[in-house]
Amino acid sequence: MARLSKLSRSIEGKVAVVTGAASGMGRATAHLFADEGAHVAVTDLDQARVDAVVEEITQAGGSAAGWVLDVSSRDQRANVVGAVVERWGHLDILVNNAGISIQHGVDSEDYEAEWGRTLDILLTAQVMLIRECLPHLEASGAGRIVNIASTEGLGATKGFSAYAAAKTGVIGLTRSLAVEFGERGITVNCICPGPINTGMTQAIPAEHKAIFARRRVALKRYAEPEEVAHGTMNFVLPAAQYITGTVLPVDGGLTIKNA
Ligand code: NAD
Repeated sequence: MARLSKLSRSIEGKVAVVTGAASGMGRATAHLFADEGAHVAVTDLDQARVDAVVEEITQAGGSAAGWVLDVSSRDQRANVVGAVVERWGHLDILVNNAGISIQHGVDSEDYEAEWGRTLDILLTAQVMLIRECLPHLEASGAGRIVNIASTEGLGATKGFSAYAAAKTGVIGLTRSLAVEFGERGITVNCICPGPINTGMTQAIPAEHKAIFARRRVALKRYAEPEEVAHGTMNFVLPAAQYITGTVLPVDGGLTIKNA
């Protein structure tokens, strides 16, 4: 009998933009996509860190090029998307991953500024970059968007109100755009990572991480960035064409664990 399965699990030749790709989950995602044959636009705030990841990927036999992209800059968003399409001719995948996380009580003096900055980078920039990529994702015929939210969009930690508001917004944005883009064949999904060993969590002492994980995480540990990248990868496969508007916790069971 001929194979029953018809849909492709290959992203070979696809062009992917990954934001915040110089570190943590963005870097792991850029590597994984390149390992699977995609051309990867490695973007982040700093040229030297971007170049280092492009070099790593190239050394490993992958295809990548780097651009400085502060996701909160309208000009940089437009320039980088234009340059990516000029280089590879198309753009099929966008991973909105760049992020910051700052703990700020609501009554702290600089709360208003930090609220604005957090919402700009974590939420507004995601939709603005999607707008920039949209004609190209539509032309792709199988456009894929993955927005990185957080388990802070599903629950809350004291002192992270701006972060939680932004990440909850990412979930709403994902659902809304999944509906809006359905007829264009573009899928939009989001990932809610739990506790992951990245730049963002490196200041947390190892013993605190271990105590937290033993108490709160079903799998009893922090994850490595690659484990989240594989969740992202599943959403961008050609075969994932009927998966849209979903919210996938990659959290070792943090959000489902009661006791
Ligand atoms: P990370 O600090 O290792 O990487 C984040 C990257 O984003 C950095 O390289 C940084 O330079 C970049 N960045 C920050 N501001 C930017 C801007 N304005 N424009 C472009 N790039 C910018 O952290 P990470 O944990 O890999 O974070 C990736 C995403 O995962 C973030 O959206 C974060 O909120 C989310 N997240 C992280 C965790 C965790 O436990 N680490 C949990 C849930 C969600």
